Amino acid sequence: KSWISEDDFYRPSPGESSEGMANTNGFGPEEAGEAPAPGLISALDLERLSVPSSESGKPKMSPEREQKGFSVVHRRQMGLSNPFRGLLKLGSLERRGAMGIWKEFSCELSPLELRLFLDHEERICVETYSLLRCESLALTHSDGRFELVFLGKKLYLRAPSRDEAEDWLDRIREALHKCRPQLEEEEWETLEYPEDSGEGQPVQSDSTALLQYSDAPGSSLDWTLAHEPELDAIKEAVLYVDMDKTWVPFIFSLSLETLKCFKVRNSDKILSNSYGIETIQDILPDTSLGGPAFFKVITSKAVLKLQAENAEEAASWRELVREVLMSYLESAEEALTLGGSLDGHSQVVLKNIVKENGFLLQYLVAIPVEKGLDSQSYICAGCSRQIGFSFTKPKLCAFSGLYYCDSCHRDEETVIPSRLIHNWDLTKRGVCRQAFKFLTQIRNQPLIDLKLVNESLYDHVERMGWIRQSREQLKLLGDYLIMCRSGALKELSKRLDHRHYLLECPHKYSVADLRQIADGVFENFLQSLLQFASHHVYNCDLCTQRGFICQICNSSDIIFPFEFDTTTRCSECKTVFHRDCQASAKSCPRCERRQRYQRKLEAE
Ligand SMILES: [Zn+2]
Ligand SMILES: [Zn+2]
Ligand SMILES: [Zn+2]
Ligand SMILES: [Zn+2]
Repeated sequence: KSWISEDDFYRPSPGESSEGMANTNGFGPEEAGEAPAPGLISALDLERLSVPSSESGKPKMSPEREQKGFSVVHRRQMGLSNPFRGLLKLGSLERRGAMGIWKEFSCELSPLELRLFLDHEERICVETYSLLRCESLALTHSDGRFELVFLGKKLYLRAPSRDEAEDWLDRIREALHKCRPQLEEEEWETLEYPEDSGEGQPVQSDSTALLQYSDAPGSSLDWTLAHEPELDAIKEAVLYVDMDKTWVPFIFSLSLETLKCFKVRNSDKILSNSYGIETIQDILPDTSLGGPAFFKVITSKAVLKLQAENAEEAASWRELVREVLMSYLESAEEALTLGGSLDGHSQVVLKNIVKENGFLLQYLVAIPVEKGLDSQSYICAGCSRQIGFSFTKPKLCAFSGLYYCDSCHRDEETVIPSRLIHNWDLTKRGVCRQAFKFLTQIRNQPLIDLKLVNESLYDHVERMGWIRQSREQLKLLGDYLIMCRSGALKELSKRLDHRHYLLECPHKYSVADLRQIADGVFENFLQSLLQFASHHVYNCDLCTQRGFICQICNSSDIIFPFEFDTTTRCSECKTVFHRDCQASAKSCPRCERRQRYQRKLEAE
């Protein structure tokens, strides 16, 4: 049924490691000819904004693909790092202790282990269970309780709901099959708790939740697709949705941005629901609904229980949705982390956030495209209430470009980082509560590498040029203080206000930094740091010993590399000279001496 096969996805060939994209850091309208116009940068263009090009001018894909308007880049094949990669699932679970008391843990499922943490922030790992030692697993109650057996020891766990529990079990089962491929399907089944699994009948893993469907699965269902597929569809087909134990047919259409669901009424195709890819949390097989043709999609709004025409169709849906989802999340996350890995603490903080607000990361450095209320099916992006028409007045979130109801959007205003970065737009705008909370959570993390996202801002905005110069000076001064044994670094650290990255990378910015830049107070902050640090270096015996004497004029005053106005450095040997002296000298005297010495050595 799908009119575009999976082979249509763009995959880089093994040798092709970089994406050639010249001139994508468009800033002002004066560059409109070759750069994307500000405000028209879609989420999927994120990678173009941040991946530095080494082979400029080389097109990323063939013109035919360009016209089709989509490409899913398999980043895993490009060998890029991703702090979130590897975890199959994370969430809260309760474990029953020896005294029968339930206690909550943060749990992480990796391909080889299940880990329980006492406090996610501090990451106190209390238990690690190797999946290689897992002997059996089963859902035990309809309230979300399930059991795992490791080396004969039973682990009693409870998820917030039955669906969540099934999701954990499905994921553990998938991981088990991957890490123990020798485990045959039949052999594994015998390890599980006995279940009624009669042919064609729903598998009942719990007698208290007896499933009764009005249609016997697979029989007398109509799978014909009588309509033209949506223009942006990657896959479009009829799927039956479980609505109060009745299977109802809908046309599902998957694009790179949404999973749309249409009803057919009087031979018209009517949009009945739309799930943004960012709201899809997972897609899983669910044989308990009746067999291998059944699966479910977990979104932030609901759990959709679906039936495909056959097992292959179900597998193809699962695979395609996962690929679209992975590509979507990865492009957003990697735009932020490329070119400089996050430190451990940032990763932990981000992992915590990514659970519920992770999809918002993509909007941090890319201006959102406002798609309009109809693309949201007139439903609040936060709580799924109906908005527009005679319902609640919809409110636009300037951070995500999505519409919200008035309880999900309280007109809280903030500078929008992406607009500051790309358009030097310092206006405070209204954002939804979720975005406001997200920005508060990440405000101190130096997630934005301006050099990667939009380096041209330094050239176009005088203030940003000054900030770059000041931060480069601060880094050089920091190098002196880090080496100095006087304890001056401790004093500087206090003044840094936890922003140690200011001494490490001059191009990293946090949301708090951008807010201070917009408020015009960041320059003063930098100025006071520069004053403190340079005052120390000029007056410290240890630091002045590490200064330079200009080897061109040989005057006795000590010069430093952070004196940008009066000194300059040899690009080869890094020796510092007076700017004026170097301008009149033909070459670097130190490099010359080295070359002479080298020639002498070779002659001997
Ligand atoms: Zn709402
Ligand atoms: Zn010193
Ligand atoms: Zn000089
Ligand atoms: Zn030199």
